[in-house]
Amino acid sequence: MTAENSARTTSQWQAADAAHFLHPFTDPAVLAKEGSRIITGASGVYIFDSEGNKLLDGMAGLWNVNVGYGQEALINASHEQMKQLAYYNAFFHTAVPSAIELAENLARVSPPNFKHVYYANSGSEGNDTVIRLVRRYWDVVGQPSRKTIISRFNAYHGSTIGGASLSGMPWMHEQGGLPIPGIDYIQQPHYRLHGAGMSFDEFGKVAASWLEQKIEALGPENVAAFIGEPVQGAGGVIVPPPTYWPEIQRICDKYGILLVSDEVICGFGRTGNWWGAQTFGSQPDLMTFAKGVTSGYVPLGGVMVGERVASAMIEHGGEFRHGYTYAGHPVACAVGVANLKLTEELNLVGKVRNETGPYLAEAMKSLQDHPLVGYTEGVGLMWAVQLVKDKANNTLFDESSKVGVVCRDIAYRKGLILRAIGDRMIIAPPLTITKQEIDNLVEITRHCLDFALESVAAAS
Ligand SMILES: *Cc1c(COP(=O)(O)O)cnc(C)c1O
Repeated sequence: MTAENSARTTSQWQAADAAHFLHPFTDPAVLAKEGSRIITGASGVYIFDSEGNKLLDGMAGLWNVNVGYGQEALINASHEQMKQLAYYNAFFHTAVPSAIELAENLARVSPPNFKHVYYANSGSEGNDTVIRLVRRYWDVVGQPSRKTIISRFNAYHGSTIGGASLSGMPWMHEQGGLPIPGIDYIQQPHYRLHGAGMSFDEFGKVAASWLEQKIEALGPENVAAFIGEPVQGAGGVIVPPPTYWPEIQRICDKYGILLVSDEVICGFGRTGNWWGAQTFGSQPDLMTFAKGVTSGYVPLGGVMVGERVASAMIEHGGEFRHGYTYAGHPVACAVGVANLKLTEELNLVGKVRNETGPYLAEAMKSLQDHPLVGYTEGVGLMWAVQLVKDKANNTLFDESSKVGVVCRDIAYRKGLILRAIGDRMIIAPPLTITKQEIDNLVEITRHCLDFALESVAAAS
C-alpha cells in the first residue's frame, strides 16, 4: 500500500473496496453489505489481516503459494530482473535470458517427452493456448476435421471464454452463452457420486470407458483431444481411482487423440511428484501449468508442449498465429527460475511424497470419526473433508445448505483459512508446511467442525 494510505482503518478499506473493486466469482451486492477481509501481509505459512489477526493459510493463497510467503530468493530475483530488464517481448525473433532459462528448467523437471514450453500469464490463458494449439496441430498434420476437445463435468480449466468452455460447470456456462463450439463433456470420475455397486478400481475403468463411448459417438475423426486435471481441484478435490488415468491413456492412444493434463494445481509437487500425471500414470502430450510455477509471487502460466506436437509444428513450419504480449515476461520467468531452484533446494517434492503428504493423510484419517465428517479424500497436500448431514447413512446436506460457508467462517475466526466448495472443506497448504504446523491446522479444523456441528444442530 502507498504510504499515505497506511493509516486507513479496515472499514475505510472496505468502503473503498466496495466502491471501486469488482471481485472475481463474487456477488457484489453481498460483498458491499458484508465487506472484504483486508489482507495486509504474510510470512511463511501465515497471513495477516488489517485487524491484526494472524491466520494459518490452509489454502496456500489459491492453491499456488507453494514455497510459502516472504521467500527472499524470489523477492530478490524479481528486483534484480526489473533493474536489469523489466520487459522485452518474444515476438520478433527476440528472447530474454530468464525466459530461456526457465524453459530449460521446466523441461528438466518434466518427463523427457517435454522439451518445449509455450508461455502465457495464467492457467486460463494456458488453456486458451491449449485449444489453439491442439487445433493447430491437427491442421498441420492434415486432419482439420479433428476439432472437438472432450472435457469432464465438474472440471475447472479457467474462466476466460476458452477456459470456462473447457470447464464442465453448467453454472458458469449459464452466463455468457458458453460453451464455444467444439467442446464436449463426459461425467467426472467421482466414485462417491457415480460408483455405486462397484469397487474403486472397477469404477476407474468404467469412468474411463465413458471417454471411449463419447469418442465413438462423435466419430474419432472429429476428436482432437481429451483434457483433464489429474485430481479435480476447484471441483472439490476429486481423486480418481488408480485405474482411471492409465485407461484414459490407453483410449487416447487407441484413437490417436491428444491427451492434455491440466497441471495448474497438481504441477510443481502438490501430489508428491513434479506433475500430477506422474502420480496418476499418464503420459500427456500437453500439460497446462500456472499457479505453483512462481508460487503466486507474480502471474505466469503456460503449456508444456510434448515432442509429438512440438516436432510437428517445427517440421511442417508456418506461423502459429497466437501469443501474448507478456509471453515469457522476464520478471515472471526470473521468479519462476528462483522458485524451481528453491523447490529443489528445500526438496519440497520429496517432502510432500515421503513426509508431509503421508503425515497429512494420517491426520485427515483422524478426522473421519467426527460426526460431521462423512469421509476425507486427497493426495499429497490437497485434501477435501466431506461434511455430511447424517453420518450413519452418509446423507449429504441439501444443496441450499450453507454448512461449508459456516465452517469456513468459523475457521477464519479461529485463525485458519479453509476453502468451502459446497459442503467439502478444502485443505491445500504451502508445500513448506511443517509437521507441527499440520498438527495445528488439523487441531483447529477439528474445533471448527465441533462449532459447525453445534451451529447446524441449532439451525435445524
Ligand atoms: C486455477 C485453475 C485454472 C485457471 O488458472 P487462472 O490462473 O486462474 O486463470 C485452470 N486450471 C486449473 C486446474 C486451475 O485450478
